[in-house]
Amino acid sequence: MTTLADPVPGGRPGDVQRATEFAAQLERQDVRGIVLSYVDTAGVGRVKTVPTARLPEAAAWGVGMSPVFDTFLADDSVVTTDVLGSPDGDLRLYPDLDALVVLAGQPGWAWAPVDRITQEGERHPGCSRTVLRRIVADAAERHGLTFKAAIEIEWSVGLGPAPEGEFVPAAPGPAYGAARQVELSDCTADLLAALAAEGVDVDQVHPEYAAGQFEVSVGALDPVAAADRSVLVRQTIRAVSRRHGLQVSFSPAVFATGVGNGGHIHLSCWRDGLNLHSGGNGRYGMTGEAESFLAGVLAHLPALTAVTAPSPASHLRLKPSQWAGVFTAWGRETREAGVRVVTGTLGRREESANLEVKPVDLAANPYLALGCVIAAGLDGIASATPLSEEITGDPARFGPPEAAARQVRRLPASLPEAVQEFRGDEVLRAALGPVLADAVTAVRLGEAAAVEGLDDAQVAAHYRWTY
Ligand code: GLU
Ligand code: MG
Repeated sequence: MTTLADPVPGGRPGDVQRATEFAAQLERQDVRGIVLSYVDTAGVGRVKTVPTARLPEAAAWGVGMSPVFDTFLADDSVVTTDVLGSPDGDLRLYPDLDALVVLAGQPGWAWAPVDRITQEGERHPGCSRTVLRRIVADAAERHGLTFKAAIEIEWSVGLGPAPEGEFVPAAPGPAYGAARQVELSDCTADLLAALAAEGVDVDQVHPEYAAGQFEVSVGALDPVAAADRSVLVRQTIRAVSRRHGLQVSFSPAVFATGVGNGGHIHLSCWRDGLNLHSGGNGRYGMTGEAESFLAGVLAHLPALTAVTAPSPASHLRLKPSQWAGVFTAWGRETREAGVRVVTGTLGRREESANLEVKPVDLAANPYLALGCVIAAGLDGIASATPLSEEITGDPARFGPPEAAARQVRRLPASLPEAVQEFRGDEVLRAALGPVLADAVTAVRLGEAAAVEGLDDAQVAAHYRWTY
């Protein structure tokens, strides 16, 4: 379980001692530096690094970094809110030692996610990891609920740096094809070895639908650890691929058309060691609370997309009939519904039943995405929101009257529309707090403005190598 306590100046109790021991051990393993990692509001991973010997100092006093990155856009330009975006101020980045990992894809380096606090030792309201820790701690305190989560990772593998930022698939074989598995055999084997060395339990890895596209799914953890893991796995995929002369993209849409890269969230709610998505009297064994949690996620899904699908490139992916789940609908194992109910196989349902939220991609900050999905579900429980009827098949076939009768809505078709929904969603805004909620709005509108006038192919190219 992730430590839910905030960092404090001087270090969390016991951390300096632990960091001293870790540093000595890491140096014996020839680890020269530690990558201190977080994700900004736009979904871009940002880092500082310190020499291994400085780890105890970082655990005690943090490492400095400006808060300005909270309103960076994906192209590194800056927007502002009432609070963020100024060149003033500094924050302290505190590594979470429980999550420190030796990077198997980058010899000489270890990695740790950070929480960011102010120089006065207060929570930084723009820190997404802190926000998710708070949401998870509140859910345990107020509702007695814990969660298991995993984020699927889809990515596109291209040949080396291609001219003019083009994408040339490194594995052109057919979708889910044996040929493609052979084409990237060495790299994928190295990736599996690296992930195993990092303690990441991989469920499966396979060639996906689009040209050069692969997917890896990993074991479920508490939400903060699942978000950390999503960042770590992508860092590792990128590093291992580079050693094979390959270039990877996690962009939602490497091309303007066709199936994109998703980052589906799998999530289950638990109380007293019992999975609420199994063994209940509701549909497919869901308990009443699990049904309401799902109904809450669906009710907030249009606004959620401002957080889970945050890039103009996200909207190239979020199209009907491309398995991206662009409707407020649910179904058992239905891949065109916004939420797919996964019951698991007979005999394993108690441990494996969960929800898969599909309109999520890897431009999303995983801490914000998980935090907002959980907040939406908890609102469903608090309001005892009734769950709509299940759908089967592709909701794109419903005409307007049938869609309305079934409460099936198409998700926002553009980033400004998603922002409009998000602005009106008090539950999601409250979950993030006003500073971060305003940052989400400003960054999304900034991102939309950055690509104004570009056609879809140019939008895809603009973000192709950013994520
Ligand atoms: N690539 C699809 C997406 O954009 C998902 C494919 C699948 O269901 O695994 O979300
Ligand atoms: Mg997939």
